[in-house]
Amino acid sequence: MADKRDYYEVLGIQKGASDDEIKKAYRKMAKQYHPDLNPDDKTAEAKFKEVGEAYEVLSDKQKRARYDQFGHAGVDPSYGAGTGGGRYQQYSTGDFGDFSDIFGDIFSGFGFGGSTRTRNPNGPIRGNDVQVRIQLSFMEAVKGCKKEIPVQRLERCAECSGTGAKAGTTPETCPECGGSGQVRVQQRSPFGVIQTVKACSRCGGKGKVINDPCKACNGMGRVRHNRKITVDIPAGIDNGQTFVVRGQGDEGTNGGPTGDLNVTVLVKEDPIFQREGFDIWVDVPVTYAQAVLGDEVVVPTIDGKVSYNIPEGTQPGTTFRLRNKGIQYVNNRGRGDQYVRVNIEVPTNLSNKQKDMLRDFDASTGDKNYAKRKSFFDKIKDAFKGD
Ligand SMILES: [Zn+2]
Ligand SMILES: [Zn+2]
Repeated sequence: MADKRDYYEVLGIQKGASDDEIKKAYRKMAKQYHPDLNPDDKTAEAKFKEVGEAYEVLSDKQKRARYDQFGHAGVDPSYGAGTGGGRYQQYSTGDFGDFSDIFGDIFSGFGFGGSTRTRNPNGPIRGNDVQVRIQLSFMEAVKGCKKEIPVQRLERCAECSGTGAKAGTTPETCPECGGSGQVRVQQRSPFGVIQTVKACSRCGGKGKVINDPCKACNGMGRVRHNRKITVDIPAGIDNGQTFVVRGQGDEGTNGGPTGDLNVTVLVKEDPIFQREGFDIWVDVPVTYAQAVLGDEVVVPTIDGKVSYNIPEGTQPGTTFRLRNKGIQYVNNRGRGDQYVRVNIEVPTNLSNKQKDMLRDFDASTGDKNYAKRKSFFDKIKDAFKGD
């Protein structure tokens, strides 16, 4: 790979150039070398590309910072590959923390695998977390409940006690590595001959092989079971939220701890209650007469029905608040509120007699009975004065 020119040099600017200067230089150069203005000119085409690349890096704050610190290798990982390790010289170790990581990267780049950094396969490994989703009714989520949840999880095989070897047999020492789990490999590299230690491929680094695997678990030592687990759903949990049940996931291996069970809840919509955070909204339909005269109405809450006195002359959409009748905060004392919105339902299918009564009633009302109506029509009159 040919050496790349410095991006600042490409754009003909100083290293500390401002964003504006970079943009101006790029526009000027891009125009100068644009393929449309330089047909069939390979040099111009290459320059045009080079200018675009330089601008892409220098116009991006993060890329520019990396380029300023590390040069081309900081923005193009393939830059310098194959030149024999010199590419890492310009990295300051401060930015990579651990020097061995740099060598790990070099080795993996040359096919060394980095096996020295893999964890001990005989050490304890924590079991995986298991994810489940359950559906709850509105009330179950609000009040909390106990639920039996079907869970599929890995458990230690009872047949072989987790060894993976057929009952009555035991895993044997690996003939390839003599039980160490590791093999030494010599490889030529641009640095000379390097000896590395790799995990034994025959036994996967365990040092033991199973000649006669357990039929129940196919030699894995763990089997998947369908279990029913009873969990306590915390009161106040909302749609889409997840809670954790410790130690109910996959069992660990080599004595490692068991993973967790993560339960995500989906809450069904309720025909009466609507949730907003920890508050509840309820629409209560009342008759026209109830709204006009005032009345005691029955309001559902999550604790049961309560009666509420709506005052005389209640307007449609009026909202009342019932303090502390909302949802229990999760893992916290205190509750939200309930909001009750009054909806006036217009009666339908009236008899002729009822309609006549209503017409008589309407004729009996005047401006003093409808405050909003009068001011509304006054405003209209003002607005259309000129017409
Ligand atoms: Zn088994
Ligand atoms: Zn081995």
